[in-house]
Amino acid sequence: MQLYNNLSAKERAELIEKAGKERLTISFYTYAKIVNTQIFRNHLFLAWDEFEVLGRIYVAREGINAQLSVPAENFERFKNHLDSITFLENVRINIAIEHDNFAFLKLKVKVREKIVADGLNDTTFDVTDIGVHVNASRFNELIEDPNTVLVDMRNHYESEIGHFKNAVTPDVDTFRESLDIIEEDLKAHKEDKNLVMYCTGGIRCEKASAYYKHKGFKNVFQLDGGIINYVRQVESNELENKFIGKNFVFDERRSERISDDVIANCHQCGEPADLHTNCANEACHLLFIQCDTCKEKMENCCSTTCMEISRLPFEEQKARRKGQGNSNDIFKKGRADHLPFKKDLRNIFESFTK
Ligand SMILES: [Zn+2]
Ligand SMILES: [Zn+2]
Repeated sequence: MQLYNNLSAKERAELIEKAGKERLTISFYTYAKIVNTQIFRNHLFLAWDEFEVLGRIYVAREGINAQLSVPAENFERFKNHLDSITFLENVRINIAIEHDNFAFLKLKVKVREKIVADGLNDTTFDVTDIGVHVNASRFNELIEDPNTVLVDMRNHYESEIGHFKNAVTPDVDTFRESLDIIEEDLKAHKEDKNLVMYCTGGIRCEKASAYYKHKGFKNVFQLDGGIINYVRQVESNELENKFIGKNFVFDERRSERISDDVIANCHQCGEPADLHTNCANEACHLLFIQCDTCKEKMENCCSTTCMEISRLPFEEQKARRKGQGNSNDIFKKGRADHLPFKKDLRNIFESFTK
């Protein structure tokens, strides 16, 4: 019995192309006690592989976090399978705004310590005492309230290309870092302000809202289902869209356009641009924003050094990398001194606290 997917990404891409099937890009998560994570993981892999599911799924003793794509024609079978698992019955499924048959190229189901790397010690606070979930229309009302502080719980490279109007967007590399910064900056307002937070699909806010309540914040609200679900509701209920720019996503698509505003700049020339790319030098792979002109001029690289390396024959590049460890990470933090136009998002927060 095959428990792992042995096809290479390239073979997968070719398969999908040949099949020509419409795939749906979806995500969901839930916190639930999973005792035997390995058995559960194997069960999911076997079932979902049969439905031709591709994606990245994390299983932990605290729950499941899944981002995947499934052929449209198998979606019903997939959904029925989800509903057959007690804690996944009727789980909210976030369906992407823009589908791309190549969003995921493999099925990876991994057992992890946690479903989100939040850096928190969950035994120190009540993780079930979460903030109030609000839907898109209530969220729109709340964020117009002068008594509200709206906080983006995502990292700098996510909020840089898109965020809610008037949101505080901490200039952080990790979720853990933003928790402390926000608490410090808002400590005088724990009781008198509404702390309203959002993230991509809602999962980070589940922990963050519980953490802030534990820290003494009285009025904590979180956008139910995150930006993805917000945009769906805005469309189907004809609400006013208060999100500007693009929603960063963690798959091959990189982002979904929500409004026509381009709020970021090319990190190399400063011209308006909001498309992330990874440096073409395999040993660098820095995630940064690059406009089309710079892309051509720099041959998809972040620096002239990387450009020179990427021109070398593959074998020589490989030899150079030897012993340098694996720095190849597509979501590397996107900060480098040689990128002059990388914005300092912290300014947005400072203007708020003034
Ligand atoms: Zn440029
Ligand atoms: Zn580079």
